[in-house]
Amino acid sequence: MKRHLVNSIICDILILGGGVAGAAAALAAAREGAAVILAEKSGRLGGTATNGLVSTLCGCYSSLPGRRKIIGGFRDILAKELLRYGGIAEGVDRDTHRNDTCDPELLACALDALMQRHGVQLMLSTCVIDASFSGRSLHSVEVVNTESGARCAILPRLAVDASGGALLAKMADPASAVSGGVEGKLQAATMVFRMDCVDGDRARLVTKEQIRELLAEARLNGDVTGERGNGVLTVLPGNSSAIVNANWVKADMSLPEDVTRGLVEGREKALENARFFRKYVPGFENAILSSIAPSLGVREASRIRGAYVLSEEDITEGRRFDDEISLGSWPMEYHDYEQNKLVYLWSDKDYSIPYRCLLPNGLENVLAAGRNISVSSMAYASTRVMGPCMAIGQAAGTAVRLCIETGILPKELDGKLLRKTLIDEGAILE
Ligand SMILES: Cc1cc2nc3c(=O)[nH]c(=O)nc-3n(C[C@H](O)[C@H](O)[C@H](O)COP(=O)(O)OP(=O)(O)OC[C@H]3O[C@@H](n4cnc5c(N)ncnc54)[C@H](O)[C@@H]3O)c2cc1C
Repeated sequence: MKRHLVNSIICDILILGGGVAGAAAALAAAREGAAVILAEKSGRLGGTATNGLVSTLCGCYSSLPGRRKIIGGFRDILAKELLRYGGIAEGVDRDTHRNDTCDPELLACALDALMQRHGVQLMLSTCVIDASFSGRSLHSVEVVNTESGARCAILPRLAVDASGGALLAKMADPASAVSGGVEGKLQAATMVFRMDCVDGDRARLVTKEQIRELLAEARLNGDVTGERGNGVLTVLPGNSSAIVNANWVKADMSLPEDVTRGLVEGREKALENARFFRKYVPGFENAILSSIAPSLGVREASRIRGAYVLSEEDITEGRRFDDEISLGSWPMEYHDYEQNKLVYLWSDKDYSIPYRCLLPNGLENVLAAGRNISVSSMAYASTRVMGPCMAIGQAAGTAVRLCIETGILPKELDGKLLRKTLIDEGAILE
């Protein structure tokens, strides 16, 4: 028997999930005073960027020569906030690309401050566990506060699913979400960790190729047993800490049996990685392992089936759309566990993502945002990075705000008007 929920909260807009996409969506949605709730199951915002310790904002700059900035809007607001905390290094050039590097702890604090300042009703440690639908409309979600155990219902007029896993689409109809590529194969996950007492000046000169060579040497010496033969390190602002991403874990976190195994295996691999870094990698001689990500870094999970599916060809051809809401330029970076290889497919053109990729088939008052939009598995390998995720979040939040203001459904919103509004509010779409 279903329990009757005494408490219910009515709002204009519910944002489900407080990763970078959900945070961007919440800020854009609340801009003109709409009642916006952001529900996040963990105790802090940032999602993969904070709980997965992945805090380098990739995809904010073109991969083409000149490496011009291609993501603005929310990215700029966040960068300005992080600068106040000394938590960001902007436009850092590495061997193959230019990125913004953030401290994950400060990123979480900056997101808290932004939500509070812009009137978003933040519900942390709040997990969406169920949803009810009326025809093609989301009616309500049931949430549980994971600290107190209290449950309540949230009844939004419109919602943005930024859960990273197409949760609402799956709850409405499992067939309206899709996972992985051919045969549902998912990219490898990674347990990321942080090391302190790093000599940042020397560590930042270490290239991916050098790490590859050092890993091969360490394997011959019996110091490395993990399957992954490559890795990446990022020196954080402050110059004495680094984030390390150097293992692969096979785990599908939608399967309960994979969750605990994935986390435990990930921590074991992080320990071995950290020993390797201290012994072999310049700048890490005195480093200490200061933090292992509380969550396993899941590169690929479910995404919606939507009004348009962005394809690998759209990216390689650099296609542009009338209803574009974000530019993209990151290569299709595919971590193939089964074949034990890291694939980078570079395009010689920037591409764009159309608004239609945010419109889930079968749900009329919901938009998707972030990595769970409608794309092919290979296109996902590019759109999943945080630059586009933030721009997509901003677009979804702006779209639901415009819909509330004019009393229309997301599918009725004029994509060109949305594009113009986004440009007026700082997005880069030229
Ligand atoms: C190992 C690894 C390395 C990466 N490296 C980089 C990198 O260097 N640079 C880069 O730009 N990108 C990188 N990425 C990709 C990038 O971090 C993510 O794709 C991106 O952060 C996704 O953002 P999001 O907001 O769409 O989703 P997420 O970050 O997944 O956020 C979704 C949020 O929804 C919440 N949620 C889920 N279910 C519920 C529920 N039922 N109720 C309430 N809340 C819920 C989650 O707790 C989470 O906070 C990496 C990814 C991984 C895994």
